[in-house]
Amino acid sequence: METLMKKLSEHGRVIVQETAEYDEKRQIFNKGIQRFPAAIVVCKTEQDVAEAVRFARQEDLEISVRAGGHHVAGTSVTHKGLMIDLSEMKKVRVEEKQKIAFVQGGATLGDVDQETQKYGLATPTGTVSETGIAGLALGGGLGYLRAKYGLTCDNMVAANVITAEGEQIRVSEDHYEDLFWAIRGGGGNFGIVTTFEFQLHPVGPEVLAIDVMYDYKDAKQVYQKLDEYLDKVSNDVSLNTMMMTMPPAPFIPEFLHNRSVITLTGMYDGDPKEGEALTQSLRELAEPIVDATAVIPYKKLQSKLDTMVPPAANFYGTSLYFSELSNGLLDELSSVLDNAEFPAMIQLWVYRRLRRNMIPITYSI
Ligand SMILES: Cc1cc2nc3c(=O)[nH]c(=O)nc-3n(C[C@H](O)[C@H](O)[C@H](O)COP(=O)(O)OP(=O)(O)OC[C@H]3O[C@@H](n4cnc5c(N)ncnc54)[C@H](O)[C@@H]3O)c2cc1C
Repeated sequence: METLMKKLSEHGRVIVQETAEYDEKRQIFNKGIQRFPAAIVVCKTEQDVAEAVRFARQEDLEISVRAGGHHVAGTSVTHKGLMIDLSEMKKVRVEEKQKIAFVQGGATLGDVDQETQKYGLATPTGTVSETGIAGLALGGGLGYLRAKYGLTCDNMVAANVITAEGEQIRVSEDHYEDLFWAIRGGGGNFGIVTTFEFQLHPVGPEVLAIDVMYDYKDAKQVYQKLDEYLDKVSNDVSLNTMMMTMPPAPFIPEFLHNRSVITLTGMYDGDPKEGEALTQSLRELAEPIVDATAVIPYKKLQSKLDTMVPPAANFYGTSLYFSELSNGLLDELSSVLDNAEFPAMIQLWVYRRLRRNMIPITYSI
């Protein structure tokens, strides 16, 4: 490890089990994952990442790469291998004229929005601000701008990658096209992305944030009416729904404790006043329990769900695709929720443009 240490930049460092920071750095979002890397390399520069890769090859150590650490399966932490930690490489720079954001591999979605919104711009990301842009973009990236601008990976225009040989290359439509294709949705393991370049679009600064809660007993009516709505709506509207039993948590109003609900959240990307008229029927799919729909800053919408994500919990999750939202499917999902041994949540990411052949459903505990 000492040889590697000497090759790192001034603030780059190697952490081993005896180092004070070890437990904090090896721990990822899902507390159910407990693995113990032989060492963690906290990188500060692209060169640090290249040195770490070369060292791992030389010592025959398995590599894992950690960005935001949100992958529920824990693929960013290896047991007895070398964990390459990018979480201190978080710079975001905006080229306003070209509408391009240069984003380092360890940035969170919040870091990206924070910088791009200074220019009234945004790239599509996800719905929780602490998620890492790297894992999200490499695997796809679904968020409130997806109907209009696609997934995060659709907006990637180039990237700097450290290859398995420890070489630094830039990939785009014109350079290493096959690798560029692979990192737009293929996940990790094709190299380590140190900087992404994303296309930006004018968004906000204020947007209409749709936020309605219905009683779970109205599920069939809510989803049937939502299905009809999706037939007519434009790509300015992106919507997510969640079915869950509300936990008796202090940040949740008492009248909702242990109540099974459907939440409908989303965004209208356009003039908020026009959006209010166009989305009014979403607030009347059944009798709402809560309607917090409002015009709010885009940045606030992007972190609105953060409080719903407990800082220290065990998670299990899985995702499925369905071509239609039938009553039979809703019955099956309800029974999953009713019979779960732990607090469970089912997200239905309804998708207008692809809705005839894709309704991604994420189910997590
Ligand atoms: C609370 C929560 C909310 C979420 N919300 C959404 C959402 O709204 N939309 C959505 O699409 N997804 C969402 N996800 C899923 C999330 O996008 C994925 O779990 C994603 O992999 C997380 O990225 P990360 O950088 O935080 O994770 P990490 O665990 O750090 O990395 C994920 C994977 O990518 C690899 N990797 C990380 N950085 C790099 C890099 N620079 N180069 C190469 N490989 C790398 C890692 O080795 C690992 O295999 C959510 C997950 C959680 C836990």
